[in-house]
Amino acid sequence: MDVFTQMTSHEQVVFCHDPDTDLRAIIAIHDTTLGPALGGCRMRMYRTVEEGLEDVLRLSRGMTYKCAAADVDFGGGKSVIIGDPQKKTPEMFRAFGQFVESLNGRFYTGTDMGTTPEDFVHALKETSCIVGVPKAYGGSGDSSIPTAKGVLYGLEATSEVLFGTKSVTGKTLSIQGLGKVGMKVAESLLQQGAHLLVQDINQTALDAILSKAKETEGTVRVVTEDELFEAEADFFVPCALGGILNDDTIPTLNVRAVVGSANNQLLESWHGDALREKGILYAPDYIVNAGGLIQVADELYGPNDERVLQKTRTIYDTLLNVYRHAEAENVSTHIAADLYCEKRIEQRRKRSSFFSHQKRPKWTIRN
Ligand code: NAD
Repeated sequence: MDVFTQMTSHEQVVFCHDPDTDLRAIIAIHDTTLGPALGGCRMRMYRTVEEGLEDVLRLSRGMTYKCAAADVDFGGGKSVIIGDPQKKTPEMFRAFGQFVESLNGRFYTGTDMGTTPEDFVHALKETSCIVGVPKAYGGSGDSSIPTAKGVLYGLEATSEVLFGTKSVTGKTLSIQGLGKVGMKVAESLLQQGAHLLVQDINQTALDAILSKAKETEGTVRVVTEDELFEAEADFFVPCALGGILNDDTIPTLNVRAVVGSANNQLLESWHGDALREKGILYAPDYIVNAGGLIQVADELYGPNDERVLQKTRTIYDTLLNVYRHAEAENVSTHIAADLYCEKRIEQRRKRSSFFSHQKRPKWTIRN
């Protein structure tokens, strides 16, 4: 398949090569209706350039929806560096920064899998279109704080729909992954007196949450992966792996809802329908985990934690809107979420063409 056929709805794809630093990167700009494209830079040993292209096209399209859902003034983009993350150099990221700068503000980027905020301190020397650098360099710091808050708002909204109360006190939640996001979510739930079933491959994280539980009204029980998917609980909270909602896990799930931070939780789109058929309410991942995106998008106005947290609160209303839409249209929540985003983009497209028409200058010929 040629590149133009693969691009489908994409605006622009840029192939970047710097022989001096061995940089081979692809930048994909999917849609800039809502603003300049925003998306992280992933570094991976893709087996082929085609594999990297496929990934960057898929991920940049996802960013368009994520930005629309989070109501930030950015469109969807993404970049990939094809190479071994162990072999990255500061010069490579400076060269990458030059390519980003050449796009003249159409694309903003930062860290993703295989890259770190520190890598982008080097890129920052070449372009200001960088987000998510460490606080010492003017960035907004740890994005897992607003991401975890967003998950908690998602749980409140879902609890409101299912149980008529935002409160999770006394509720049982099974959590996979106690990393940067999962641990913060778990700690807050314990403070609220929830009962947790937790699973992680990291024993230190499990020990930490067991000791935290002693200071709270809540309880924690460590379970195996099989037990996690079979356990009866009110919520399943995936905060580790993508593709976790699939043909193997959905039949065993014994919960009322799924609300978590993990990216791309549905292995395939139809798994959203499978959850619905089972009567499990699915909170679309890209709505729930948008706190980190909200934080980096907000950096353009200068770092401000309070403003970020205020905006992160909107996840509660956005999710309720999506649930209402899904019910009214008789569709699964992941489809309702996509429709919600597409409508928002379409409205902006219409508005900007209306205003650009109104504002179009009348050309006069001066003698
Ligand atoms: P993290 O790497 O800090 O934590 C991941 C945790 O999952 C670790 O404790 C790890 O031990 C555990 N884990 C890994 N494999 C596991 C397995 N097979 N079974 C159980 N546990 C396992 O990552 P994070 O920043 O907390 O992010 C968690 C998820 O949320 C990821 O999918 C990430 O893409 C997504 N996300 C994170 C952010 C953010 O701001 N950090 C934003 C949006 C989405």
